[in-house]
Amino acid sequence: MSKRSITTKLINHPYQPPEGFQAPQPPVHRASSIFLPSMEAARSRSELDHNTYTYGTGGTPTTRTLEQRLCTLEGGNHALLLPNGLAAIACTNLALLNPGDEVLLPNHIYGPSKILAETDLKRWGIHCNHYEATQTSDLEAKITPNTRLVWLEAAGSNTLEFPDLTTQVQLCRSKGILTAIDNTWGAGIAYHSFNLQRNNSEKDAIGVDISVHALTKYPSGSGSVLMGSVITQDDELFKKIATCHMHLGYTVGVNDVEVILQGLAHMHLRYAKSDHSARAIANWCTQQEQFVQVLHPALPDSAGHTHWKNHCCTPERPEGAAAGLVSVIVDPKYTLQQTDTFCESLQLFKIAHSWGGPNSLVMSYNLNKMRTPYPKHLKKGTLIRFAAGLEHADDLINDLQQALKKLK
Ligand SMILES: *Cc1c(COP(=O)(O)O)cnc(C)c1O
Repeated sequence: MSKRSITTKLINHPYQPPEGFQAPQPPVHRASSIFLPSMEAARSRSELDHNTYTYGTGGTPTTRTLEQRLCTLEGGNHALLLPNGLAAIACTNLALLNPGDEVLLPNHIYGPSKILAETDLKRWGIHCNHYEATQTSDLEAKITPNTRLVWLEAAGSNTLEFPDLTTQVQLCRSKGILTAIDNTWGAGIAYHSFNLQRNNSEKDAIGVDISVHALTKYPSGSGSVLMGSVITQDDELFKKIATCHMHLGYTVGVNDVEVILQGLAHMHLRYAKSDHSARAIANWCTQQEQFVQVLHPALPDSAGHTHWKNHCCTPERPEGAAAGLVSVIVDPKYTLQQTDTFCESLQLFKIAHSWGGPNSLVMSYNLNKMRTPYPKHLKKGTLIRFAAGLEHADDLINDLQQALKKLK
């Protein structure tokens, strides 16, 4: 070695991790190139084999650690990481659907997921139809011989109806149709996608085939990182999605993975805190005359309340669990400008997309544009969604109270 130049020595420098150094967080490994022991290894290794390493696109010990923890969280066997939640949804669709196939979406699904199905999937010859998430009979009626994949979401984006997941999954399974859930709201905490009835025997468990998460929300908890995941139990199904994931070249940055690994350690506490605040906000909102409807699955008159109870309340947790989201429908006698002024008068609730970070957020939506046909269970008016952050609930309610004076 000594005859080699300093440049070469600096590159080929012996390095050993410090002995006896055990930190709470795992080290961050980054790589594009990974040194392989032989040409034979170069020829035989596959990026799909998560027991070896080949190239950075196939993962590093850091990404594998996060994949394993997500499997633990969700009760899955395999996980894939993607640049954001929407990419996880797109990859699932692309991996499983062929021209001529049909995908069914609940009508309260995450908006960009619907747009993807109605534009690009359609362009590729994949048909999409919608079902009323609160009516299993409507799902059944919409299933055709070409239906390959049914998406589920609980609770639904913005309108927060909780569907009868168990019956809907059973129905699809009886017809040999794959089910995928967008479990961003539940975050692996409120209910278990792969074991919806939480029975003791894994063997007879009723669960979805695929669980997708926007890790951007609660797992990150920071409001600063975007990431998505696709989790499965079945080996063959995983292989199919992982192959498409590899072909599309989806990778994630390890610094972002580190943020999420750290976030998972206290996600349950953050989830419970924002749940508690959102319920206090929901109860307070029911007393305000400016709001004609308050949407939160723990409210007894909400659409799918009994299904929320069945899936999210347990003997050990009788009060149940819910993400920290609550929506209100503003009395239509107020103009859009007035509701905008209300939102803009809030000081703690920031106007922003997304949720799951430390700050409380507010966003308004035009339900008329989002939902056709307009669901019977929703009153007419502008929908405002509040996402409770980690501030004190009393401060949040005081903030709503001062801003609501603009609507008097
Ligand atoms: C935010 C969100 C997504 C998309 O996640 P991004 O990381 O922002 O792409 C998907 N589904 C649901 C239900 C979400 O709330």
